Amino acid sequence: MKVLITGGAGFIGSAVVRLAVSRGHSVVNLDALTYAACLDNVASVADSPLYAFEHADIRDRGALDRIFAKHEPDAVMHLAAESHVDRSIDGPGTFMDTNVMGTFHLLEAARAYWNAEGRPETFRFHHVSTDEVFGSLGPDGQFTEETPYDPRSPYSASKAASDHLVRAWGETYGLPVVLSNCSNNYGPYHFPEKLIPVVILNALHGRPIPVYGAGENVRDWLYVEDHADALLLVLEKGALGRSYNIGGENERTNLALVETICAILDRLKPADRPYSSLIAFVTDRPGHDLRYAIDPTRIREELGWLPSVTVEEGLEKTVRWYLENEDWWRALLERDGVGQRLGTGT
Ligand code: NAD
Repeated sequence: MKVLITGGAGFIGSAVVRLAVSRGHSVVNLDALTYAACLDNVASVADSPLYAFEHADIRDRGALDRIFAKHEPDAVMHLAAESHVDRSIDGPGTFMDTNVMGTFHLLEAARAYWNAEGRPETFRFHHVSTDEVFGSLGPDGQFTEETPYDPRSPYSASKAASDHLVRAWGETYGLPVVLSNCSNNYGPYHFPEKLIPVVILNALHGRPIPVYGAGENVRDWLYVEDHADALLLVLEKGALGRSYNIGGENERTNLALVETICAILDRLKPADRPYSSLIAFVTDRPGHDLRYAIDPTRIREELGWLPSVTVEEGLEKTVRWYLENEDWWRALLERDGVGQRLGTGT
């Protein structure tokens, strides 16, 4: 299969690119290379005859048409997005432009391509989204595919809008679409401003480890390579028009997560005092969703997907990766002042 993957230089997109190429798929990686991108994430496949890169913006319809005509993909997997909640609070405009209008332009380009003579009959458009579209849970319950949308941040509202557009293009124009909504990812190549890399890197530098509020917000963590595996399964076997919730049923409060990472670091790279002594509680994010939890029954029962690692195993792999790949994160910290903007976000 030849897959056009948008956002393939980002965190999750690059994991999908690496996995797809390793499984013998041809990949066209379309990415605008925003601040969040890093082509080093796909260096391991860059020389493969199965891999091509297109530097393009999903808001540029002309470029999209040219790329569809040039590569004639069998499928699109759409991951390109502005993805950081804190940034969406500071500046929501780019989130609307890329996540809403960018998705619109990509859908229109895909529709024109799919309607043209001689295009692959099996073509499908897989939209990759987040569980944040469902809003915030209380102490009980999980998000199912039937949970009503209730986004609460500019980021999640823009992703919810993009989900609606994709479903509408499926219903109205018959575009063969499939969707997935996933919980919080973590793992190698996670951009340094996100919570888990912030914890690891601040700990390694002896700097305070910021935790929002009292650290009671709960997230459901999934190792990024397990998400990539689930995405390829949804692309290949998911029923058209259907959406699949993806999660590993690994709920942790932010404080418990941070303490687990500190304990792993204490073991792998002991310091004078426990890393948990660096934890510093900071003013909570406005509108901070209390709890997310995914019910993955549909993808498990219909497609047979299961995550390969527990959260403890995945966190240890992740901490080891950051310890062994200082060149990767140091280059990003030095780029565009990312190091000065280290946040607290998930
Ligand atoms: P990321 O920020 O690491 O990567 C996004 C990529 O998209 C970057 O390479 C960037 O250059 C590219 N991009 C941004 N705007 C673009 C544009 N206008 N045109 C072309 N490329 C553009 O994001 P991520 O964490 O890898 O998330 C990927 C997708 O998965 C997003 O759609 C996100 O909403 C979704 N998602 C993320 C998580 C998570 O925990 N990170 C969980 C569920 C779903």
